[in-house]
This record gives sequence, C-alpha cells and structure tokens, in this order.
Amino acid sequence: MIVVMKSGSTEEHVADVSSRLTDLGYLVTKIVGVEKTILAAVGGAEYEKVDSIDQLRSLDWVDDVMLITKSYKFVARESKVDRTIIDLGDGVTIGGNQISMMAGPCTVESEEQLYTTAESVAKAGATILRGGAYKPSTSPYSFQGMGVPALKLLKEAASKFGLKVITEVMDLRKIDLVGEYSDILQIGTRNMQNYDLLRELGRSDRPVMIKRGMSAKYEEWLLACEYVAANGNENIMLCERGIRTFETGTRNTLDLSAIPVMHSLSHLPIIIDPSQGTGRRDIVASMSAASIAAGADGLIIEVHPNPDHALKDGSQSVTIQQFEQMMPKLRRIAEAVDRTL
Ligand code: PEP
Ligand code: MN
Repeated sequence: MIVVMKSGSTEEHVADVSSRLTDLGYLVTKIVGVEKTILAAVGGAEYEKVDSIDQLRSLDWVDDVMLITKSYKFVARESKVDRTIIDLGDGVTIGGNQISMMAGPCTVESEEQLYTTAESVAKAGATILRGGAYKPSTSPYSFQGMGVPALKLLKEAASKFGLKVITEVMDLRKIDLVGEYSDILQIGTRNMQNYDLLRELGRSDRPVMIKRGMSAKYEEWLLACEYVAANGNENIMLCERGIRTFETGTRNTLDLSAIPVMHSLSHLPIIIDPSQGTGRRDIVASMSAASIAAGADGLIIEVHPNPDHALKDGSQSVTIQQFEQMMPKLRRIAEAVDRTL
C-alpha cells in the first residue's frame, strides 16, 4: 500500500506509521518529496488488514492510504486460472460456454400456474425453473409466499419437465430446508448484506446466486460473495438485478456494465435479471438480448401464464408467448458471441 503523509508531519509521525506498517508485516520504503513524505509498503495481504488500514487512514498526520491489492481474495479474478463453472448435474452447468436460461414466475401461486409455466419454458429451452416460495416484500401486508408447499411444487414441476430449481432463501434457519428442494439458493437484493446468512451459506453444499444489493457498489457485492467463499462454498454466481438511480421510467436501472466489469474483477459467472432490473415486460426481451451480447453467463426471467392476474410482479413478467418468441432471437445473439443457448 502507499501511505501519503500530510505536509508538515514530523519525523516522529513518519516513524510511527512506519513502525505500524512493519508490525503488519510490510517492508517499508520511505520516499521524501519536496512537500510530502510517502511510505511505500509491500509484502502484506491487504484483505486481512482492513481494520488496521482504517486506523492508519484516521491518523491526523496521514493524508491518504492507497491499496495495491484487492480487498477480496477467493472471488478475485487472479485467484484462479480458470473461470468458475458450476455443475448442477444432468448436463446443466453455469459459467461455461452455454448460457443458462432460468425462467418461471416471480412467486409460486398454484400447481396449475407453476406446471403450465414450467412445461412451456422447458420446451422453449430454459434449463432452470425459478419461483419464489419465500418472498421478500417491502410491505408486510403483501403476499409473503406459500412456503413449503411451494418448495414441493417447484421440485415436482422441475423433475417432471427436466429442469433444475432456483429459489430464494431469506432466513439462515431455512438454508437446509430450501436446499432440500432446490439446486441453487437465491439471495435477494435485500439480503446481500445479511452477513450471518452469507456466512452460513458458506457451509452449505448448494450453489448460491447472490443478487446485487440495490445500492451496492461492485466491491461490496464481491465482498458479499467473499463471505460465502471464505466460509467454504465457492459455487457462487453473481446476479445483476438493477440498482436505484434517479430514473423513474424503469423500476431500477439495469447496470449492464456489471457484466464486463465483474468478468474482469472475478472468475464468478454473472446472471442478469432484466425483470426486477427494468420492472417492464415490454423491454425484458431487449435487455435480455443486450445482456447476452455483453457476455452474460445467464438470464433469470419472470414468466407468467397470465401476468395481469399475477400475485406479484405481473407488470414485469412476460407471457409464455413472449418468452417463446424471444428465445430464438436470443439464441442467434448467443451464436454471434460464440456461445450457445
Ligand atoms: C425476485 O427475484 O422475485 C426478487 C424478489 O428479486 P430481488 O431480490 O432482486 O428484488
Ligand atoms: Mn419478482
């Protein structure tokens, strides 16, 4: 790291910072400039020393502290030669050449709704069924999900139509229960900073999809993944689902820059959610196309047989017919970027 001393700091101040750095295991080189002294410190793993670095930053005689290495380790691009490929079994992988299509209703409402959707999305080429059993709702009065009966329906429908299951887990006490019925545990935007939950997911043997917090920076999102990885579970995928901005024309602003940026910072696959990302059924297909063109490893799309009567997120859920229509086009774009779908 580079520590810039304030102009006017004394020999004692420089010696104090220098000895703190040496105690942290760094080799320190002093550079005395005309106005400022700089301490260049090499040799330490900075992600392990965040608290000590914060202490340094807060010293009155320190002007700035710049890190050279990343604040995360396991999920960093340089920690692995190859990109992460998550194997769900039965030939379904995430992060390889094949783009994964996850589709289904926002929330499981009934056997009929789920089976109709699952059958159609499977026929159209989806490999993973989505559907909420436990819903994180902004209002305590809105529908909270069917719970265990929904988990059972998801598993049954998926096995009937040859799909895998992704569903959200909100509570660390339910990780094993949700994991029994699903192949991927979805962590919602509101829980990206639920560190107890993230730590516990590290002990699960189920792959995890971590949605970006609606106000989270890239680094914070990767640090959420680092919690899971550092606790033992490296089967993690990122999911961009839109962030809060000043724009009100869409429900969120879908940040597609996250795709190349995450690919450069991390070896984890990235999935795009154009449904929560836009809140608008009419632009889900365009944003899906753009996501694939930009290198996304998968999409998660809300599909409903009758969106105008959906219990949740109807306005952003595409109809079965719209889903069927968008798939061939997405496939052509995938081919254009040397991927399959
Ligand atoms: C969802 O997938 O339906 C959902 C609630 O997602 P998010 O956590 O991104 O809002
Ligand atoms: Mn939803």
